[in-house]
Amino acid sequence: AVNLSRTTNPKIISVANQKGGVGKTTTTINLGAALARAGRRVLLIDLDPQGNASTGLGIDFGNRDVTTYDVLTGDALPSAAAIETSVENLLIIPATTDLSSADINLMSNEKRSFMLHDALHQPDIDALEVDYILIDCPPSLNILTVNAMIASDSVVVPLQSEFFALEGLSQLMLTIREVRQTANAALRIEGVVLTMYDKRNNLCQQVEADARDNLGDLVFKTVIPRNVRLSEAPSFAMPVIDYDPASKGAAAYIALTAEIIQGEQPTSSRRAS
Ligand code: ADP
Ligand code: MG
Repeated sequence: AVNLSRTTNPKIISVANQKGGVGKTTTTINLGAALARAGRRVLLIDLDPQGNASTGLGIDFGNRDVTTYDVLTGDALPSAAAIETSVENLLIIPATTDLSSADINLMSNEKRSFMLHDALHQPDIDALEVDYILIDCPPSLNILTVNAMIASDSVVVPLQSEFFALEGLSQLMLTIREVRQTANAALRIEGVVLTMYDKRNNLCQQVEADARDNLGDLVFKTVIPRNVRLSEAPSFAMPVIDYDPASKGAAAYIALTAEIIQGEQPTSSRRAS
């Protein structure tokens, strides 16, 4: 049904960290699913040529006819590329390896940084009637990640609770600052979320203490524990809240989602309200 009361644009959040294996895709899928469960309508954009978010939500390669690549190049409208997932009110634009194609790199500098921005700020987006757009970034600070940051209102940064985690973070913060100065002054940091946290591990506690000392309120209160259910769920093509609703992983992503919902602008008209 058309929601005539929706007056605001969707909130666009990039999930980014140039390190691989820190929990970006896990966070994108499970935050998206928990937001959908909380009554928001959500579009995920798989911006990683590896297509893990698409696979993790059960989109077979055979069903990836229209992809993020087509949306970036302007060959497809977002509403034509978005596919329903098994989760109600959770849509995804899937990715394939053609995202790393040279075509993107051949465009002029100015244009190629704004491909995703332009795709997500066109009237067609209204047809999707989404409250949130979550972008699963590749493990690199490349042109795709820059596209995501220029297109976004904010960035969620998953930080794996391990040695050197904070050093990689300063590079990411520099990129965010650069994007702010050159292309998207309004870009915010939604928050840094500690992932794969083991509370019995001294190193994890140390990383958490350092992160909270250095970044203060930028660090989400919620930490995501290391939980095998989170790593199993994608092979069953489910978010963890469906795969094992009673798991610690599910509880953690629901709590993280509540923090993000708490930060919603009171003036915005959400579908659930
Ligand atoms: P990225 O997208 O940053 O490369 P992923 O989300 O794909 O990272 O996570 C890397 C691997 O770690 C995956 O196999 C994933 O299932 C697993 N994983 C992610 N978060 C957790 C967690 N909190 N507990 C256990 N395994 C996790
Ligand atoms: Mg990933």
